Amino acid sequence: MRPLIDIREVSKTYVTGSFSVEALKKVSLRVYPGELVSLVGPSGSGKSTLLHILGFLDRPDSGEYYFAGHPTAKLGEGRLAAVRSRMIGFIFQSFHLLKRTTARDNVLLPMVYTGLGAKPAKALECLKLVGLGDRVRHKSNELSGGQCQRVAIARALVNDPLVVMADEPTGNLDAVSRQEVMQVIKGLNARGLTIIIVTHDDEVSAMTDRVVRLKDGVIVSDESRRSASAAGAAGSELPPARLGFSPSEFLEQLKVAFKAIWSHKMRSALTVLGIFIGVGAIISLMTISEGFMKSLLSGASEDDARKVWVTPRWQHGKPRRRFTMGEVEAIRGRAPLAEKVVPMLARGGVDVSAGDKHVEAAVNSREGYSPEEQKADPLCFENRKVQGRFFTRAENLDRARVAVINRSLAKELFGDENAVNSDIRIKGIDFTVVGVADNHKAEDIFGGQPNAYIPLNTAAKRVFGSSRLDYVEVTAPTPGDAQEARRQIIGALREERGLREDAEEDFDVRTFEVQIEQFKSAMGKISGVVYGIAGISLLVGGIGIMNIMLVSVTERTREIGLRKALGARNSDILSQFLIEAVVLCVLGGALGIGLGYALAWAAYLVTKVPPALGAGTVAFAFGFSTFIGVGFGFWPALRAAMLDPIEALRYE
Ligand code: ADP
Repeated sequence: MRPLIDIREVSKTYVTGSFSVEALKKVSLRVYPGELVSLVGPSGSGKSTLLHILGFLDRPDSGEYYFAGHPTAKLGEGRLAAVRSRMIGFIFQSFHLLKRTTARDNVLLPMVYTGLGAKPAKALECLKLVGLGDRVRHKSNELSGGQCQRVAIARALVNDPLVVMADEPTGNLDAVSRQEVMQVIKGLNARGLTIIIVTHDDEVSAMTDRVVRLKDGVIVSDESRRSASAAGAAGSELPPARLGFSPSEFLEQLKVAFKAIWSHKMRSALTVLGIFIGVGAIISLMTISEGFMKSLLSGASEDDARKVWVTPRWQHGKPRRRFTMGEVEAIRGRAPLAEKVVPMLARGGVDVSAGDKHVEAAVNSREGYSPEEQKADPLCFENRKVQGRFFTRAENLDRARVAVINRSLAKELFGDENAVNSDIRIKGIDFTVVGVADNHKAEDIFGGQPNAYIPLNTAAKRVFGSSRLDYVEVTAPTPGDAQEARRQIIGALREERGLREDAEEDFDVRTFEVQIEQFKSAMGKISGVVYGIAGISLLVGGIGIMNIMLVSVTERTREIGLRKALGARNSDILSQFLIEAVVLCVLGGALGIGLGYALAWAAYLVTKVPPALGAGTVAFAFGFSTFIGVGFGFWPALRAAMLDPIEALRYE
């Protein structure tokens, strides 16, 4: 009969520091299908070392090992994991059940690593076989020692192994439980299962058919009481290494990750704080700026797209050269696509008062409407509804002290009273309000700014004492003409100002498109600062994640050892911990999205622009959190994956 296990002259030496221990010295042993073998001997004789080598948890330094007829020296890590998973069942002295986990789920665990999916019916069958059919839903802490060990036996059986290896299976049990467990083991052997038990208990070895005695790393006796009867499947092919990840394994890993996070709620919450704040900062900025963009674009009409703004270029916080009426006339005369040219004088922070109420308002000026223009603009003021009327060209030429104020200013000065025909003072000069205009949408975007409009000549001669124009608003016939109109305006102004071919302009001419681009680039500058802050807190958060993952790996060292013994590949352990880090980060990121959105709405109280949370922003936040999880979780996960299974199992 072909042996199931056949080792030839196997040696193993442990080197610790300067001295070495020869744990096994040229040991040869054959175990046949159906045998129940006990490995006995005094402590330190090499029993466990031998069992670990037989179970592919460790490799010999020299010698050969044939398993089910196949040489095993050249098998890789993945292949050995597959052999452990599908062909070997392990039982340990301290059971190594997963904590707070039901008997059923403990027994299902090895199926995660076969890649064939979990079969609850099979788990139930194995639990019945060890006499625990009525304890399926009990958690490990609700079972006695003997029952725990029987769950562990059921776990060892669930993948139909060729051989079960037990390391001191009765070492932690009282006499009654020991008897119980040995009866189960004997029963399994009677059904043809090959079993190898390491024990120093003579009563246990007395219950086996064959006793192999070790001393100082050599076999000193090998007594058989009964020759092996059953002819098992000693010639089975070794399973191939598993590739990739099955959905059931992924689900199990997610489950484990959530359980680990949930069982340390406070710690997890503190860990994700950095990610939470970092993502929150980014999201609030992105939603606010997206909101601005949206209201800018949604408020934009065809009229806006036809407009071209001419402004002085600024230098050291001051306009370099403002415009003259002569230059306005030059645009009117030499830019054919400049259909309407509106020169403006504007100042911010001007004191406007009525009675004893004072308001800081922006003051703008216009040339006023001619009778024809008044007819062409039924709403009275650049498509804005005016209660009362807008001032006229004649009033402008007369430098009349008449004003149109916007709703915001009217409200601040007069409350709900009708402001038309009231008296106000602008910079201390008396004016009569002839109309109240609806707010311009730009005024609304910035929180309903108060604004007054007065005749250009009045502003120049009576109020500001300067006829230099702050900007000129030009309207092209169609939005498509705006760019060409811009070129014509630049040409006209250059010529009027006598700029040489190679001279730089001292003014800017922008279309709506350019305006949006400029808004974006201004946002980009603010973003730089916020992203900097966010980056730092994400870095700190990432390091926090790494730290906690290292702690988690250490805490779960024994569990990692167990999973490896049950057939987990290094990559299974790696992905397990990576998934945990990613789940942590994504949870922090999701909360961060909530925080950012809430902050953006808080900012709404000031900006009056509703934030916009786009799908792209959400995807970015999740993508980024995942990236941090993988980035900072990788090292701890790698440390977990590289743990030696035996050392991990023994870790206290
Ligand atoms: P047993 O199971 O019979 O008690 P072991 O196989 O555990 O014996 O150990 C055999 C010898 O190898 C002992 O002297 C032990 O100290 C030594 N040994 C076992 N594992 C290690 C290790 N990881 N590092 C160093 N020495 C070890």
